[in-house]
Amino acid sequence: MEVYQLLPMTNCKKCGESTCMAFAVKLISGEKELELCTPLFEEDKYKDKLEKLQEMFATVEGATETGLLIDTNKCTGCGNCVVACPVNVANDPHGAAIGRGPTNDKVILKVKDGVVVSSNVHECRRFGKNRIQCDLCIVTCPSGAIEFV
Ligand code: SF4
Ligand code: SF4
Repeated sequence: MEVYQLLPMTNCKKCGESTCMAFAVKLISGEKELELCTPLFEEDKYKDKLEKLQEMFATVEGATETGLLIDTNKCTGCGNCVVACPVNVANDPHGAAIGRGPTNDKVILKVKDGVVVSSNVHECRRFGKNRIQCDLCIVTCPSGAIEFV
């Protein structure tokens, strides 16, 4: 709702969507880029709204394409997230999924040098258009080291 209220709310359709609300939903899910809402950039009256939206959708340094961000200062390398990740379980049932070292390159999360690192993020359920709001790695982390931005 907050994103919607920062859009022009004129339903002008210049972004290719029939309503600003539909555009807001796609913006949030990553299916549309802010730049497609051309009035925001062309009309001075939307300047403040544009700044707020740009802040909201700024690419955060260190975040992957899924928005996964690991705070290596907080991570203790316990491996909870590695074991909890359903993709790890599916792709490496006898390795990372049961707390052992990964047996292949398809895992997303693995502990390396005492902290968790992510790779293969295109395999993450949050990646791409049909993303699922999976948060198993976040909820199982006892130190709050993982977030999605
Ligand atoms: S969001 Fe889900 S699929 Fe993605 S890394 Fe976390 S647990 Fe794995
Ligand atoms: S659950 Fe949290 S503390 Fe444990 S390895 Fe994963 S990110 Fe690090």
